[in-house]
Amino acid sequence: MEQRYYQKDIETMSYEEMKKLQSEKLVKQVKHVYDNVPYYRNLMDEKGVKPEDIHGIDDLHLLPFLSKADLRDAYPYGLLAKPLSECVRIHSTSGTTGRRVVAFYTQKDVDLWEDCCARAITAAGGTNDDVCQVAYGYGLFTGGAGLHGGSHKVGCLTLPMSSGNTERQIQFMSDLGATILCCTPSYAAYIGETLKEQGYTPDDIPLKAGIFGAEPWTEEMRRQIEATLGIKAYDIYGLTETSGPGVAFECSEQTGMHVNEDHFYAEIIDPDTGEVLPEGEKGELVFTSLDKEAFPLLRYRTRDICVLSRKKCSCGRTLVKMAKPMGRTDDMLIIRGVNVFPSQIETVLLKEGYQPNYQIIVDRVNNNDTFEVNVEMNADQFTDIASELLMMEKKLAGAMKTMLGINPTVHLVPPKSVARSEGKAVRVIDKRKLI
Ligand code: ADP
Ligand code: ZN
Repeated sequence: MEQRYYQKDIETMSYEEMKKLQSEKLVKQVKHVYDNVPYYRNLMDEKGVKPEDIHGIDDLHLLPFLSKADLRDAYPYGLLAKPLSECVRIHSTSGTTGRRVVAFYTQKDVDLWEDCCARAITAAGGTNDDVCQVAYGYGLFTGGAGLHGGSHKVGCLTLPMSSGNTERQIQFMSDLGATILCCTPSYAAYIGETLKEQGYTPDDIPLKAGIFGAEPWTEEMRRQIEATLGIKAYDIYGLTETSGPGVAFECSEQTGMHVNEDHFYAEIIDPDTGEVLPEGEKGELVFTSLDKEAFPLLRYRTRDICVLSRKKCSCGRTLVKMAKPMGRTDDMLIIRGVNVFPSQIETVLLKEGYQPNYQIIVDRVNNNDTFEVNVEMNADQFTDIASELLMMEKKLAGAMKTMLGINPTVHLVPPKSVARSEGKAVRVIDKRKLI
């Protein structure tokens, strides 16, 4: 494939030049953050670092880390580095109350984020001759807005479908000749199956590429999607905290994602000691946003386990590559694209009068996540009258839906039937084998 770049100078910049650019941006960013965000100033003062100590990217390790707990502490405005009057957008993570993170954007922040997505679309072969169907959710979720903006920047004819209504997705895809599809990999697989059921073959639809991310997916799933849709499927990575999708994107080589490191500097650390690990070693991925204005995060711990590589890439890009995330350092699950923490389920159980004896079982059937929760009744609650059980299960499932935003299937089970463990309780059985 002929290589096209959206911002060639940056995407193919030499390592030395990139380091220089990153260093200049970092020095400015640290000063901006120190001067405007008391929360950061305190963290830096506690660590005894001043903006004057940071002369370039090699000094980054002197700065304190920032964690999701800090983001929650500072909710909603505590990390804001620009006046609200200069902000034009808010997005939020899929997590729910207590776990929700809100991110703010100035127009410049939106621009650079959209540039990142435009790089991803271009790397997937997108040009102004393409019709780009954006089937990520629109709204607070970053997926829709990010790829939508990127698609505009590339000059694609943009189909802002949002997710859902699969019949209509297929109709538009076919009638309006979509050539690029952007959505979560599980939704892409679902669209593929539906197309097959309706008697379409890959030759009947003009799609040539897909940009899929926001959740883990396997190589096997990639091959399956590529075959059912007749496309090349590209991975894209991001998180709301750093802006959204487009922090890293895949190129024609499909061996990891190039990090847009002129905007987001990546480090790999030992999650236990915080020590920075050399290239090629596995650890926790940490990002510093080098030039975001409104919500700039310095050394943000993503809790994604990952590896970085500077091996030469056949696409000509010199941007460092990150592997597919290989797991998490916390217990967060991503079910149907929504972040779920076992602790949230526990909170609901306690509130509803149950003991925290439960097990979460997640699987993937026909490319859709299934989500079951087995909950033990205590002796007083126990009943074997089917209609009563059903009612109790429905009530509990409703309470979980309110907390999580997605619907589990709840099974109430007899007292003492959830296996006890002597060590750490096995609360989650994830059969999806995504890693
Ligand atoms: P978003 O709203 O962009 O999905 P969240 O903050 O809700 O962002 O979730 C971000 C997390 O989603 C990441 O930390 C990572 O664990 C996961 N994620 C995003 N993209 C990918 C991807 N391409 N592959 C694997 N995991 C991903
Ligand atoms: Zn490449």
